[in-house]
Amino acid sequence: MPDDRSQVDGARVLADLNTLRGIGAYKTGVHKPTFSEPHMRSLEWLAGRLPEAGLTATIDGIGNVLGTSVKQGPKLLAGSHLESQNYAGWLDGPLGVVYALEAARVINPDQAVNGAVEVASWCDEEGHFGSFLGSRSYVGALTEADIDAARDRNSGRTMRDALREVGLAGRARSRAARGRHIGYLEAHIEQGQTLESGGLSIGIVTSIVGIWQYRISFTGEQNHAGTTRMADRRDAGLALARFCVDIDDRFPDLRRGRGQRHRHRRARGERLRAVVVDGWRSVRPRRSRCRRNRRADRAGRRARRSGSAGARESRRLMSAGAEEAATPTPPPAGIL
Ligand SMILES: [Zn+2]
Repeated sequence: MPDDRSQVDGARVLADLNTLRGIGAYKTGVHKPTFSEPHMRSLEWLAGRLPEAGLTATIDGIGNVLGTSVKQGPKLLAGSHLESQNYAGWLDGPLGVVYALEAARVINPDQAVNGAVEVASWCDEEGHFGSFLGSRSYVGALTEADIDAARDRNSGRTMRDALREVGLAGRARSRAARGRHIGYLEAHIEQGQTLESGGLSIGIVTSIVGIWQYRISFTGEQNHAGTTRMADRRDAGLALARFCVDIDDRFPDLRRGRGQRHRHRRARGERLRAVVVDGWRSVRPRRSRCRRNRRADRAGRRARRSGSAGARESRRLMSAGAEEAATPTPPPAGIL
């Protein structure tokens, strides 16, 4: 296998990233919501670059850009996304797309390399209209009814209207062909501090978070502050605070986040309610199927079912929302 690193053109990579940064620029970052004009211009830009890597470009019926190769040998799929969160950083997404493009530009023309890199830009990875609509479409996990129901979380515009306005309505959606790819790679700008604090320039992700979200209500009782004995009080706010501390104590390995907290005050005699929309993110190591982790998962579920000391202080209603399993991501056996 030849050493292709010397052919990687760092200046070209940086120039491409800066070009994408210039489309929809906002202060030091970018503003490119899904199907906005700068997002669509970014997709067109990528489609125009892919032939440089020997790839045939398509923008499909959900806004995925795919560059496919007719070269013989194994294919590795690589990419990321080109829309951004609102008023966001300039490297989240484009870094992975441009790295994939550069790898394809270097590897695909090289006849000494058996195989090719194909490039993808997944639409709406940032969730303006839904949850991973582009990549789910590619793996066959998105129905037409899902698209009918999807709406822009900011404007309320339907995805159907958006697809029509940007000229993608009626186009076929590309689907993964089973066995075509030996793996998928996505380079991403670091969103935590692990590399930066370690003085490292690059690392390999070995696991990603699985997300559980719960809506939990704490219901208390309003009464006279001066005359009601402390033992008789049912303070929803206090229960909520204790519950949050309990979660911190009992699940030190979980990535936890507490979302919106509302306190509803009602007329005297009615119940007071505090609502917390909470999320736990668990990071499982690659050997997540080991018995210890399974035990920890079961313990976590049990604890959530039974409630902690703080939660028992008031009646608690817990309804589970979307649940996603943590996904180990072993490095693929590559062609590189
Ligand atoms: Zn991203």
